[in-house]
Amino acid sequence: MRVKTFKGGVHLNYFKEATASKSIEVMPDPEQVILPVSQHLGAPAEVIVAVGDEVKAGQVIAQAKGFVSVPVHASISGKVTAINQMPHPGGKKVTAIVIENDNSGADVFGAKSGLAELTGQQIRELMQAIGLVGMGGAGFPTHVKYQPMEGKRVEAVILNGAECEPYLTCDHRLMVEVPQKVILGLQAMMKAAGAEKAYIGIEVNKPDAIETLTREAASDPRIEVVPLEVKYPQGEEKMLINAITGRVVPSGGLPLDVGVVVNNIATAVALAEGIQEGMPLISRVVTVTGAVKNPRNVRVKLGTSVDKLIDFCGGFTGTPGRIILGGPMTGPAQYRLDIPVIKTTSGVLVQDRGEVKLLEDSPCVRCARCVDVCPYNLMPCFLANAIEAGDLALAEKYGIMDCRECGSCTFVCPARRPIVQDIKAAKAKITAAKNKQKK
Ligand code: SF4
Ligand code: SF4
Repeated sequence: MRVKTFKGGVHLNYFKEATASKSIEVMPDPEQVILPVSQHLGAPAEVIVAVGDEVKAGQVIAQAKGFVSVPVHASISGKVTAINQMPHPGGKKVTAIVIENDNSGADVFGAKSGLAELTGQQIRELMQAIGLVGMGGAGFPTHVKYQPMEGKRVEAVILNGAECEPYLTCDHRLMVEVPQKVILGLQAMMKAAGAEKAYIGIEVNKPDAIETLTREAASDPRIEVVPLEVKYPQGEEKMLINAITGRVVPSGGLPLDVGVVVNNIATAVALAEGIQEGMPLISRVVTVTGAVKNPRNVRVKLGTSVDKLIDFCGGFTGTPGRIILGGPMTGPAQYRLDIPVIKTTSGVLVQDRGEVKLLEDSPCVRCARCVDVCPYNLMPCFLANAIEAGDLALAEKYGIMDCRECGSCTFVCPARRPIVQDIKAAKAKITAAKNKQKK
């Protein structure tokens, strides 16, 4: 088996054993869901219901506002009881629609269809209609990636099955348990893009997923399953493209610049469900792991609060010290449990208070380890020094905006410098200053 990879990156402890072999379980619908109008990049959706309205699962409750936006659908049937600014996993308060469950189970899903009946344009329209976004964490509206652009051609669609973040196994389980949906979703993406070739990149620590999808894709010679080295950040979009095709996305460029579109496994499955079942994106699989009594992969309705999800997994094993939504390398730490699961919530990782050590940082010892591992050939130590000196212009000169915030530099730094945290804060300042200038 020829295994592909990229230059740089780090080898981590993956801690996937607790959930990797556990089948997906379905959590019963909660009594209440909280659905933020912003679960994606781009314009937040516009609320079209009012307090007191009765809604059914699958009904649009907030409509897309513009092209780079997607609608939000009710994930359960019931009554709208509040529309307020509420806590969001992103940290800020965001307008959210609260629905109390009427336990009727009523739904208004769209029409069922087959891939053969749909044109590329209809698939792109369906992507937006079902509220599809990148479910790996970025939340970029999927239909936008597939919009034809003059002078650009999509030669290949890549499905990201690397799942290189420690602890997460939700995509692994989807590949093993619903391979037919993964392949159907991928074929639909190919049709939407007009692409003749597709790859599914999977790290070799998931041999059952490689075997299952290779078998499932055998009847479609356009699709190739590519085994990848187990290395972080193998699933980062540009690293994945480089490992599989050898192509390098230019600085500041997009995958489309090298003829590729990348989507994640859960996104392909949600598209297949939209086609076959007419079901919009109202639930997702989340890996709940770490210091919980029953770590597991759970299919949960969007809008379910994280505390209810943790209860479903038996509760905490000790005193929680930190809760991360997503994986530990890139997922944001949360300070409250009443936040909802949204379209991009791939995991809930609970760290015990004993695990959360507050490490003192110290001056740079110029070991260059951060330079060796940066997959974007940046010099993280120089970036950190420029930020520390308050010289954001210099940080920009060193390419700070090309940083993909993978955290590899921070992981290897023996001086425990909070490099990626400083980079994130500095990038936000630079972007805010530029937006201000534009106004
Ligand atoms: S500088 Fe950015 S891209 Fe490079 S290793 Fe650090 S976080 Fe990753
Ligand atoms: S890894 Fe840390 S100590 Fe080593 S050069 Fe980079 S910032 Fe300095």
